[in-house]
Amino acid sequence: MLDLTYEAPKPKVIAGAKYDWELVIGMEVHAQVASNAKLFSGASTQFGNEPNSNVSFVDAAMPGMLPVINGECVKQAVRTGLALNCAIHEKSVFARKNYFYADLPKGYQITQDTTPICNGGFIEIKDADGNTKKIGLTRIHMEEDSGKSIHDLSPFDTMIDLNRAGVPLLEIVSEPDMRSGDEAYQYLTEVRKLVRYLEICDGNMEEGSLRCDANISVREKGSTEFGTRVEVKNLNSIRNVKRAIEYEFKRHIGLIEEGQEIRKTTLTFNAQTGETSIMRTKEEADDYRYFPEPDLQPLEITQDYIDEVRQTLPPLPKQLFRKYVGLGLSEYDASMLTDDKHIALYFETLLNHVESAKSGVNWMMGEVKGYINELAIGIDEFPITPQRLAGLINMVDEGKMGRTLASQQLFPIMIKEPQKTPVELAKENNLVQVNNLDELEQWIQKSIDAYPDKVEEYRGGKKGILGLFMGEVMRLSGGKADPKKT
Ligand code: ADP
Ligand code: MG
Repeated sequence: MLDLTYEAPKPKVIAGAKYDWELVIGMEVHAQVASNAKLFSGASTQFGNEPNSNVSFVDAAMPGMLPVINGECVKQAVRTGLALNCAIHEKSVFARKNYFYADLPKGYQITQDTTPICNGGFIEIKDADGNTKKIGLTRIHMEEDSGKSIHDLSPFDTMIDLNRAGVPLLEIVSEPDMRSGDEAYQYLTEVRKLVRYLEICDGNMEEGSLRCDANISVREKGSTEFGTRVEVKNLNSIRNVKRAIEYEFKRHIGLIEEGQEIRKTTLTFNAQTGETSIMRTKEEADDYRYFPEPDLQPLEITQDYIDEVRQTLPPLPKQLFRKYVGLGLSEYDASMLTDDKHIALYFETLLNHVESAKSGVNWMMGEVKGYINELAIGIDEFPITPQRLAGLINMVDEGKMGRTLASQQLFPIMIKEPQKTPVELAKENNLVQVNNLDELEQWIQKSIDAYPDKVEEYRGGKKGILGLFMGEVMRLSGGKADPKKT
């Protein structure tokens, strides 16, 4: 029953909580699927168009219009399921979820109920002790978005924009497996990373292309039963999800220890105050009168199709992470390289062309990251191709150029003239390493002549002083002297 008078109580101080409490969190994530057309019509999904310009007769719920499933969205659902270790069902069924709202002209949303396209699956995170923990996935299903009601354009009317009506969504529902705000933070970070790797969704929470509802309850540690949950909506960043969870944890404990009961409510989070407030209460389960959508056949896909889609999956962050750790990189380096898909793909190509993976990482984490971070640009704007960069790295590893010369002189030149190879640029800029004995000897002689007293100290047994002469030769040669020959 809708209870409009109910106010969610504010949290009590819990510094002296009597019992040891535990959080239980389950997450519902809606990802807006990148597709040119809507889920059941040919209308455009382009964002920012004139209100009500991307609306077909199907989206506007004109009588007699029939939905037609968009194959591209089915493919994206299968890709997501495969990437998240789910079972993909050859047969799934669309259902009507009935409710009345002005921005839902049909009076129902087409979704999937008891037979979604994917079940099971998991996402790996780290628990508080640093151990790998699997967060189970209940299901992934396809559904259409509703339109948008705009309340602040007119003091008297609500405006309806149906551009969003029918836009394809994937809903990813987790098991109530998370136990802290930090676990929820990691879970969402992984989900977002994955949909970005798969290019299913841009993962932008502020703009609403990735939306998340957190289901939160509290129980005494060690208990096997779940407490009553609340659901927090309107969370527009991963950090705010964590804040809302931590706020709710305190509020629940305060109430329970005071002898009050938790009511099943839908809350909204205010990022300014850091507090939640009530949107609606739902004492009983919502009754949406689900039934199979009569205008659509059950969706059937074949195992061959699923296998075909599996073949075309891009490398995924977890696989790349394991590969890099296997190559001897630290977990820190491996996660830095796989956090962003474009960095990972750049590094993948680099790896195919360098002789030493370790050198590749050093350049990637040092010079390349340093450059793009300083300019605050993405790797896609980094001018040197991975092939050219590999050429430079190999020159150093083969002893054809000193590391310092390569890093401090040739690398900046390559950034300015990315169309030329490092060998060409080294020649043009007179940066080729000198290993000709006559030339080397001149520099060596000069450096010896410059420090007669140091020469004496060396003769007297202070062998460590050799470094000084080496440094001097490097300085005189502008870094071009071959250190080994010298
Ligand atoms: P609804 O449509 O009512 O929101 P769903 O089945 O779509 O229900 O989503 C339920 C979500 O709530 C799931 O993510 C589930 O893991 C989570 N959940 C269920 N029970 C609890 C609980 N007691 N505490 C925290 N989360 C829960
Ligand atoms: Mg829900």
